[in-house]
Amino acid sequence: MGDDRITLTGLKARGFHGVFDFEKREGQDFVVDVVLYTDHAQAGASDRLEDTINYADVAQIVADRITGEPFDLIEALAWTIAGDLLRVAGSVEVTVHKPQAPIDQDFQDVSVTVRRSGTGRQSQGVVPRLVRGGQAVIGVGANMGQPAETVQSAMDALDLHPHITELQRSSLYRSTPVGGVEQDDFINAVITVETTLSAYELLGVCQGVELAHGRTRDVRWGPRTLDLDLIRFTPQVSLEQGADLSDADAQLTLTDPVLTLPHPEVGNRAFVLTPWHEIDPSATIDVDGTTLTVCERLEELGDQGVERA
Ligand code: ATP
Ligand code: CA
Ligand code: CA
Repeated sequence: MGDDRITLTGLKARGFHGVFDFEKREGQDFVVDVVLYTDHAQAGASDRLEDTINYADVAQIVADRITGEPFDLIEALAWTIAGDLLRVAGSVEVTVHKPQAPIDQDFQDVSVTVRRSGTGRQSQGVVPRLVRGGQAVIGVGANMGQPAETVQSAMDALDLHPHITELQRSSLYRSTPVGGVEQDDFINAVITVETTLSAYELLGVCQGVELAHGRTRDVRWGPRTLDLDLIRFTPQVSLEQGADLSDADAQLTLTDPVLTLPHPEVGNRAFVLTPWHEIDPSATIDVDGTTLTVCERLEELGDQGVERA
């Protein structure tokens, strides 16, 4: 590997890395510089993009990691970004700056730098949680203001997003609240979508739609103007030939508290399973290691007071 390099500096994005709870909750800006050691001889002679590293791709890889699953340490973030970049360059240097780090003294910046070398161009396979594109099942609920209008409007908003297309939407259901907080009945629905976004990006869009409908976060399981939960995400790339949204094996599984998939409570909630069953009667879920159709699970759950609205 020669001394030729590509340098990208000052790529800034908001992430949730850090050892403190408030860092994971509130997030802060992270700034990343990368140097990719490569050989420009071929691209220099050919003037073709195919012969070099596309820096838009590099920027995307870095941004995905900054905004993705939180690490405790910026060392781990830098190491992981470097690992991702070894897919495109033989040797890389990654610096992660954390200018808003929780340090009592007045300071300008704190950063770590890692250098990693690979063995030439490698294909390391896909990192499941970063995979863009797939189909998702989204649960929608509301019980304040005009819940039926809000639920429809939230589904409209998802479909209007340039990277999200509605596949099917259920009818509206009325359900008795669960979780012990005294409150009005909910209106619930389920929508299935196709998206070119990653699961985390889709969650971000869902949270934006909640905010746009005046959602505030007070009591968990308490009343809310709008709640959008990602029930599950089926990445496009890992879809086996002929598999579809109802296939339990093709699902993205995440244990991250920021995004847990499939949604850990889905199997206990008739207000999700009933509308989901309406639009996808063949859908299956795993309950304690056993695969059941949504219909079978609904029978096990018994009457939870979910009715067509
Ligand atoms: P529940 O998740 O039990 O339905 P909730 O919807 O009332 O509870 P929220 O206050 O809306 O909980 O969300 C709390 C956090 O859950 C969010 O900040 C989000 O990051 C996280 N979360 C984890 N997994 C998911 C998921 N699959 N869909 C939506 N949010 C999720
Ligand atoms: Ca919820
Ligand atoms: Ca939620």
